[in-house]
Amino acid sequence: MSYLNSQDIHQFRNRVLALNGEDVSRCIQCGKCSAGCPISPEMDLQPNQVIRFIQINDPATVLKCSTMWICASCQTCSVRCPEEIDIAKIMDSLRKLALEAKVPVGEEKVVKFDEIFLDSIRKRGRVHELELVMKYNLALLQPFKDAHLGPVMFARGKLGILGHKIKEVRKIKEIFKNSRRIKQSES
Ligand code: SF4
Ligand code: SF4
Repeated sequence: MSYLNSQDIHQFRNRVLALNGEDVSRCIQCGKCSAGCPISPEMDLQPNQVIRFIQINDPATVLKCSTMWICASCQTCSVRCPEEIDIAKIMDSLRKLALEAKVPVGEEKVVKFDEIFLDSIRKRGRVHELELVMKYNLALLQPFKDAHLGPVMFARGKLGILGHKIKEVRKIKEIFKNSRRIKQSES
C-alpha cells in the first residue's frame, strides 16, 4: 500500500497510530526529543519535525527523510518526552512504512547493513562479525575498507574466522519464518 497517493495521505497519522499505539496529536512541539538526541546533527529532519509532519499527514516528507534510518533506537527521546510519546517506537514504524511504500530510502547503506545483519542472525542465531563486514563492504563496492583493522582485531580475539552457531538455532529460524508469514498476510 502506498501512503503517497491522495487517498492514503489523510490516513497516515492513523496508520502510525494503528501500528504502534502512539498518538502524535499529543505532541506539543517542545523540542525536548530533538535536544536530547545524540544523532540529531546528522539528521535531515529533527525528531520533533518528524512528529510534526506525521501530525499534519505529510508522508511524502516523512518517509523520504534519513532520520528514521540514522536513529539508533537509544530511546533518549522517548524518556524525555513530557507527553510520554515513544518516539523511538515511531521511528521503527516509519522504517516499516517507508519500505512498504517503496519510497527511495534516505540511507541505503543502513538498509543493506540491516539485511546482512539479520541474515547472519537467521543462519546462526548470532552475528558473525567477519562475514558481516566482508559482505557489507562488498555490497558497497569497497572491499578493502578498514581492512587494516582486521589483523589488530584478530590478535585481540575480537574477530573469529569461523562464526559460532547457538544451540537452538532452529527456534531463531522459526521466528524468521513466522515474521515472514505475518508480513505476507499483511500485504
Ligand atoms: S519531546 Fe514529545 S512533546 Fe516534545 S516535541 Fe518531542 S514528541 Fe513532541
Ligand atoms: S531513539 Fe533515535 S531519535 Fe530518539 S534520541 Fe535515540 S537516536 Fe535520537
